[in-house]
Amino acid sequence: MGRTLQLHRFSGLMEKGVSLERALDIATQFLMERKQETLPLDTATGRILFADLRSLVDDPRFDNSAMDGWAVREADCQELGTVLRIVGTSQAGSTEVPLVGEGEACSIMTGAPIPEGADAIVMVEDSTNHDDSVTINGPARPGFIRKRGENLVEGKRPLKSGNFLTPSAISLAATMGHARVSVVRQPSIAVIGVGDELTPPGEPLSENSIYESNTFGISSLVKKMGGVPRRSELIRDSIDDLREALDGAAESCDAIITSGGVSMGKWDIVRQIMEEEGDVRFWRIMMRPGGPPIFGSWKGIPIFGLPGNPVSSHVVFTVLVAPWMSKSMGSDEAYGPRLANRVRVTMQEPLKGAPGKLCMRRISIRQEGDTLVASTSTHQGSGNIHSMVAHNGLSLLPPDTNCEKGGTIDALWLC
Ligand code: AMP
Ligand code: MG
Repeated sequence: MGRTLQLHRFSGLMEKGVSLERALDIATQFLMERKQETLPLDTATGRILFADLRSLVDDPRFDNSAMDGWAVREADCQELGTVLRIVGTSQAGSTEVPLVGEGEACSIMTGAPIPEGADAIVMVEDSTNHDDSVTINGPARPGFIRKRGENLVEGKRPLKSGNFLTPSAISLAATMGHARVSVVRQPSIAVIGVGDELTPPGEPLSENSIYESNTFGISSLVKKMGGVPRRSELIRDSIDDLREALDGAAESCDAIITSGGVSMGKWDIVRQIMEEEGDVRFWRIMMRPGGPPIFGSWKGIPIFGLPGNPVSSHVVFTVLVAPWMSKSMGSDEAYGPRLANRVRVTMQEPLKGAPGKLCMRRISIRQEGDTLVASTSTHQGSGNIHSMVAHNGLSLLPPDTNCEKGGTIDALWLC
């Protein structure tokens, strides 16, 4: 009875043959939980900030010199050749800094505090140093004083939740006084390969078996997007084995990705088990390659059933799973981890689209003068993973459109 009710409930929610935009919409209604952990700055590069980070200090902390030279009174240096009496030195880190009075100069280093009384800096290159006096040969510039708080005021939050911790962001966090930062915990994602014909690389192949590649490729994509892949043992085409694997994954992971078994065939058991026992939100996307993915949840955990063809699984991951992972982690779209940048390219040869489907052919993109141009080589089969290595982009040809030689189209430049 429970099963019947469940099927009835979910059949109403399942959409078939959706556009990529709709697939993204549906998937983003069901994100992974965003969790946090605190890390020492040294290990936080490439992570995503969990919460806004406030500065614990002003930056600069005190007025200081932007140049090696002389701290002076601007009014004393109106004429070139002025001679000033040297009253001492202000070094970076100095705690005792002399006062600068009328007709006086204090030797000063970059980053050193500005002596009281001084309001401008003369560069060392614009001076001649005598024993206890200095001749000023160039302008005294107030602009060479870096003012307290001109970069950042204590309490401001220049790093925001979702920011990607680039090397510069790490440097900024340290400048603000943080030894540790709160980052988004890397989601743990089960990667399950399904198919009787699959043998792990490195093991002997029996007749008609092939080396399994998708769980390696998908795990690598998960890592690149900032997740932790949990690659499981390969699953034979057996519903019971698959159920056990999915149950185990749902208990230990934040999401599940399967590869293979989502088409119309008799042995497409991922689709079967999802339809019969899972919660399916959509099945099939109007795109080529990568038409048959299924999405929903298993025991409350989001699950993507990716197609078995290696190109298809990579393409679907790139355009669907990767943006979904970014959304789940709350990462800044412009700077966060991603697999591709959207660009406009000029085709150097005609490109054929697909009836009713977004067509993502493998293309090679390169800069020529002011434009990005693209070309294809043959071998576009969705089973040919070499085509993803030999090319560096994907066309985004809208359904039912072709592109002439010299025409421009949107494309994804893979990174
Ligand atoms: P399926 O989606 O299970 O019908 O598989 C479609 C095609 O992809 C078949 O040619 C499979 O042999 C191949 N395939 C399925 N899973 C994998 C995998 N994990 N690694 C490499 N090829 C696969
Ligand atoms: Mg199969």
